[in-house]
Amino acid sequence: MFAPIWTLPSAKLLAGRHDRIMLSLMQDAPLLVSGILDHARRWHGNQEVVGHALEGGLHRQSYRATAARSCQLAHALTDLGAQIGTRIGIIAWNTHRHLELWYGVSGIGAVAHDINPRLSSQQLAYIIGHAHDEFLFVDITFAPLVAALRPQCPSVKHVVVMTDAAHQPEDLPGALIYEDLIAGQPETYDWPQLDERSANALCYTSGTTGNPKGVLYSHRSNVLHALGVSAKDGGNIGARDVILPAAPMFHANGWGIPYAALAHGAKLVFTGRHIDGPTLHSLIMEEGVTLALGVPTIALALLEEAERKGDVWPGLERFIIAGSAAPLSMIEAFDKRGVEVVHCWGMTETSPIGTSSAETARSAQGSHAERIAARVKQGRPVFGVDLKITASDGTVLPHDGQSIGALKVRGPWVLKQYFGAEGPAVDTDGWFDTGDIACIDEDGFMQITDRAKDLIKSGGEWISSVDLENMVCGYDKISQAAVIGVPHPKWDERPVVIAVANPETQVSQEEVLDFLKDKVAKLWLPDTVIFTDALPLGATGKVQKSDLRAQYADLLQSAAS
Ligand code: ADP
Repeated sequence: MFAPIWTLPSAKLLAGRHDRIMLSLMQDAPLLVSGILDHARRWHGNQEVVGHALEGGLHRQSYRATAARSCQLAHALTDLGAQIGTRIGIIAWNTHRHLELWYGVSGIGAVAHDINPRLSSQQLAYIIGHAHDEFLFVDITFAPLVAALRPQCPSVKHVVVMTDAAHQPEDLPGALIYEDLIAGQPETYDWPQLDERSANALCYTSGTTGNPKGVLYSHRSNVLHALGVSAKDGGNIGARDVILPAAPMFHANGWGIPYAALAHGAKLVFTGRHIDGPTLHSLIMEEGVTLALGVPTIALALLEEAERKGDVWPGLERFIIAGSAAPLSMIEAFDKRGVEVVHCWGMTETSPIGTSSAETARSAQGSHAERIAARVKQGRPVFGVDLKITASDGTVLPHDGQSIGALKVRGPWVLKQYFGAEGPAVDTDGWFDTGDIACIDEDGFMQITDRAKDLIKSGGEWISSVDLENMVCGYDKISQAAVIGVPHPKWDERPVVIAVANPETQVSQEEVLDFLKDKVAKLWLPDTVIFTDALPLGATGKVQKSDLRAQYADLLQSAAS
């Protein structure tokens, strides 16, 4: 029988010694998401959430108003029959209403289920059915999508369009209107004192292989994660920060930022539906953003826009890049603009923060160039997360910067079991196998060498696609690159580069290979460099290597001769 892992050590220690437990005399308040909202209302009530409204214009409201509207929504949900555990699907961009939903839904003990609208309609119907969503809150932009989807979603009893009556979309005639729903409801709510281990949010992985899998977060895991992601060596989030999450709230639990910002009173800046370079750039310039977060493709779009405009960001201090490896060239480009890249690693299954590239006293002693280069590593675990790398037989590998193995993780905000799954997703000691391959150096800095499925096997040796991408991006005529393993009749697989050149730049395959020649072992030298205008992006803005592998599967079939 599977036991909850985080009770194991104390359970072992105390077995048979109950007479000797000395209970503490400290208060025992459950860690609840409603507590974050109450704190924001009372102590950061004037702080703002600002963002592009889908109806047009920039919408601004205080945390006091956010709390009041979340309470109104909670009352409306209760009136409509939502209960503890009711799943509430959300298909929406980052907006103030989306934020209210997170708090209003969690507050009453229901479960906020963010759904990635970029998934295929088949996957969307699967997820909504699997979660058994009874409500579906949707942005006006997704009205046509939901209208088409609705017949495949028998669990859904209420569709609510997140707008006002003036903007009711024609596609969803019978749908409820968000603003009408909350109007006139009381602005306070006597939140239930739930068990902190009860579920508050649900997020599915993007399902690049097989059906998406649900990760069911708890109040406790999200409150602890909010503290972890805000810690100095995590996101370093505080009340003077202005945070621009360019990661959608439907990706990996919104990277925990909607909780962390309200917990610490940081201003939140939302992009609405436009997660692109120009929108990010203008919000950073106009709203005094100190911290932005996004995947590398978004970070690149922002850099390109700032370059085009020739602007200097007035207040941007940090950019948290996660989701895929940030190449050195990108970290350097931000550094030149006075912005520190904090390279983080995490997954939907880890809420998501696992590690951060924040420096230690020792690593900060290096030269500037060494310190920038060190940020290519995904870094050290934040407190609460434990890591190890293991060989294929399970042996734990040393932290020597050389040994490469399967990255395993555990902690109070790491999943134990997928939603609706039969058995645990972790081993008996609670370790979750991330599917990533990594090494850890003497100072505890972890570096992802690849996703297990992206590693390239050539002539019996492993080639890291991430390392090669990093090197190719170091060539100043290249803006983006993906390296994939392409089946080869003799070598099993060979690396092939798919690259995007800098705008208005001529570059040849020979130049790129020449650039790489003295940087890699001969075996690692890619067979071909293919130029393209854009790399295919998946539902969360990451480069979709599986698409590239399918597209170029036959490229080297005649190569043996
Ligand atoms: P999906 O599986 O839908 O892409 P996630 O965002 O949860 O959803 O993906 C987690 C994976 O993203 C990790 O297992 C890892 O492979 C990759 N990843 C996350 N952060 C980084 C990073 N900084 N560098 C390299 N890979 C990363």
